[in-house]
Amino acid sequence: MTPGEYPVTSTSNVRDSLAAIEALPLARSVRIFNLCGDQERVIVLSGMRRAMPRKVELVSGPGCAASICPEADVYQALRLTECHPLTLLVGENLLRLPLNRDVGGRRSLLDAQQHGADVRVVSAPVQAVMVARAEPERDVVFFVAGFESLLAPLAGMVLEGLPDNLSILLCGRRVEPLVEQVLNGEAADIDALLLPGNRCAVTGTQGWERVSADYRRPAAVAGYTYSNILSAVHAVLQQHCNGEARVDNFYRGLVRPDGNPLARDQIDRVFELVSGDWRGLGEVQGTAFRMRRTYDVFNADRRFPDYRGELISEAGGMPDGCECAAVALGRKLPLDCPLFLVRCTPQQPYGPCMASDDGACYLQRAV
Ligand code: SF4
Repeated sequence: MTPGEYPVTSTSNVRDSLAAIEALPLARSVRIFNLCGDQERVIVLSGMRRAMPRKVELVSGPGCAASICPEADVYQALRLTECHPLTLLVGENLLRLPLNRDVGGRRSLLDAQQHGADVRVVSAPVQAVMVARAEPERDVVFFVAGFESLLAPLAGMVLEGLPDNLSILLCGRRVEPLVEQVLNGEAADIDALLLPGNRCAVTGTQGWERVSADYRRPAAVAGYTYSNILSAVHAVLQQHCNGEARVDNFYRGLVRPDGNPLARDQIDRVFELVSGDWRGLGEVQGTAFRMRRTYDVFNADRRFPDYRGELISEAGGMPDGCECAAVALGRKLPLDCPLFLVRCTPQQPYGPCMASDDGACYLQRAV
C-alpha cells in the first residue's frame, strides 16, 4: 500500500464516526487545521465543531482566496474601472472585498458598480470568454482570486487563446509554502492538516506527503460532505494517537498521488510562482501565480500597468482593528473580534473575512 491509498476507515456512518472519534485515547488537545473555504462552510453550517470532543479543535485556516487577496489588487481593479471604459468581471467573492482604508475613491467593487462602473459578476471562467466575445469592441478584464482548482481551467483557456479584448487580473495562490512557514514558526500550534479535495485533485498529494513527513503532521484529503470530512478528521486523529504522519485520502474518486498531470502541466505552462502578498499574513516566497511573459497580451497587469504602484500598502496590511490575520491562522475566532456583526457585517464588510461567502467571519454569522 502506498501513501495516499490508505483505506477509508471502517466507520461507515456519522454516528459511528463520532463515536470512534470520542473513543480515541487523546493524551492532549489536538488542533486540526483546515485549508478550504468549502470545507469550512460544511463544518460551520453543520455544527461539526460543537460535535467534537473537548480535546479536538477544528481550526479554520487560509482557505478563502478572497480573504487573503491583498488590498493592492482590489485597488488596481477599482482604478481600472475608474480610468478606463472597460468591463470588469469578478466572482461574487470579490465584489464586496473592501480596501483597508478610505483613500478617497470607491471602497469596493460593489461600491464602484453602484456608482455606475461596469462591474459584472461571473460564476465560471468560461463566462468571461463569452462576455468578451459578445462585446469585441470593449476591453474586458477578468479579476480572479483562487487556488489551483481555479487556475487549472484558467490555464486551459489561456492556452486555447483568449479573445483579443480579454485580459486577466490574477490573485492566484499556492498554499503549501505558507503552511510550511507556519509549521516552521515558533508558535506552530497546528497538530494535523485537513486538505482540500478539489485542489488535491489537480496538484495530487505528493507535495503534502512531503510536508506531512517533514513536519511530522498527520494529514487527510477530504471532500465536501459531513460524513467524508468526519472520516478525514477521525483518520488524522488516529494517526496522531499512533504517532504516525502521512496523507490519508478520502476523496479517492478524484485525488491521486500525482493529481491531474494535464492540468498541472497547463498551469506550469501558463503561470510561474513568485513571492506573493497574503492579506493579513504578509509576503511569502513561491506562493503567487503570475502569468508567464509569453502571455503578456492576456495579462491585465501588463496591459494596464499604471495603477499597482499608486497605493502604498504594506505587505499583509489589514484594516485597523480587524482580526482576520489571527482568524486565518486559527489563533482567534470571528467572535473574538469586537467588530463582528457590529461594525463589520455581510452587507458592509469591514474586513476581508466577512466579504466572501467562503470567509470565516461571513460563515460564522449564520450560526
Ligand atoms: S469580523 Fe470583520 S473586522 Fe472582525 S475579523 Fe472578521 S472580517 Fe475582520
